[in-house]
Amino acid sequence: MKNITIKKSNQKVPVGKIVCVGRNYTEHAKELGNVVPEKPIVFLKPNSSLIFSGDKIVYPSFSNDMHHEVELVLLINETIKDGNLSEAENAIAGYGVGLDMTLRDVQNKLKEQGHPWTIAKGFDTSAVVSDFISKKDYALTLEEQISLSVNGDIKQNEILNKMIFPPAEIVEYLSSLMTLEKGDIIFTGTPKGVGKVKKGDNIFAEISDVAELNCKVE
Ligand code: MG
Repeated sequence: MKNITIKKSNQKVPVGKIVCVGRNYTEHAKELGNVVPEKPIVFLKPNSSLIFSGDKIVYPSFSNDMHHEVELVLLINETIKDGNLSEAENAIAGYGVGLDMTLRDVQNKLKEQGHPWTIAKGFDTSAVVSDFISKKDYALTLEEQISLSVNGDIKQNEILNKMIFPPAEIVEYLSSLMTLEKGDIIFTGTPKGVGKVKKGDNIFAEISDVAELNCKVE
């Protein structure tokens, strides 16, 4: 069983499913040549893909083009199905920063073939999360800076309010598609600046005032 650590508390929350949203920042959709969606793009990662800050990201044998995607991650604290916006807001327990590691070469092939993204998104170590901060201890304003650096060079740096669909709208929409439950975590999409990592790289990701994580690629 994998557990989310909540900062400033002894609480550990067992992780449920990992739901991800794609193309939630206009400039990122454009950099990959995608149209900006009317509704968020949704996919899942298996629980087995999850690691934590300080763990190693392992390059799978079937890719030569693993990309970093830094994202705000939401933690769900109660069952919600077909929730309205305020119920969706209430269902969010807290926030962390995460990496949606993506095999871009594999994903591009899958896209061409019209196949699901599972292989490009669900490999071991593809989902990385920090410790989470409880909403009780911190109110997210969306003015926070989200950033990622590789070996000290800033690659992604954006303000959270550039998200097309803010957190509560994402949860509201997802809850219309599938029941969300306590312990589920939601990756909310990446800003522009995604790029390739290689073995030996050190990744540092941060959302100001919220959380940070550190991982090495091997
Ligand atoms: Mg992503």
